Parts: sequence; C-alpha cells; structure tokens
Amino acid sequence: MKGIKGWLQRFMMGRYGTDKLNHLLLWVAVFLVLLSYFLQNTWLNRVMVLLSYVLMGIVIFRSLSRNTYQRHKENRRYLNLLERLKDREHRYFTCPKCKQSVRVPKGKGKIAISCPKCREKFIKKT
Ligand SMILES: [Zn+2]
Repeated sequence: MKGIKGWLQRFMMGRYGTDKLNHLLLWVAVFLVLLSYFLQNTWLNRVMVLLSYVLMGIVIFRSLSRNTYQRHKENRRYLNLLERLKDREHRYFTCPKCKQSVRVPKGKGKIAISCPKCREKFIKKT
C-alpha cells in the first residue's frame, strides 16, 4: 500500500491536480449520466453519454496537466464568472475599446461609464 501511495505521489508531482472547475465538470458529467438513464434509446441519450465522457476526459486531462499556469487561469476565470452570477448589486460590462471588464452598481438608470484602463467612455443602462 505504501508503495502505491509513493508511486502516486511521484506521479502527481508537478501536475495540476484538481480544483473547483474540475469538481463542476465532474458533477455535470455525473448528472448527465444519471439523466441519460431516463432517456434510453434516444439520440439525446447518446449525446449526453458522449458529452459526459468528453467532460470526464477534460477533468482527467486537467488533473494530470503539467501546465499549471494555464489550468490555474481557467479555474480563475470560472471563479470570476461564479462571482458575477452571485453578485446582484452590480452589473458587468466590457469596454468596447480594450475589452476590460468594468463593474458598476445596478439600478442607476442610464449612466456614462469610463473605462478604468483606457479612459474610453460609453453609455449603458444599469
Ligand atoms: Zn477600455
């Protein structure tokens, strides 16, 4: 048992492991498999099973990846998105010029927003 643990530790050295994004992907995959049981022998069933395999493939790929910087970036992007979905007090816009995302308070009507990065001004309804 100790040998296996040591081998696994050596194997995972320098690899990314798992994160919140992988958990989500795995849960979606499990959910799709469970859902597909209720749709037996339909084309949708096959699509779902295939999709769940693809998702599990991505999870395995991400866990074993040595490009930890890129994987961390993906996870960061996912966590940012989650934060935005939870945030009910702000709206997020993308600057039309430099693509910087700008957060503004909600419910202020039409306002002129100036981009903190490039100073571009644009009008949006909040
Ligand atoms: Zn800008």
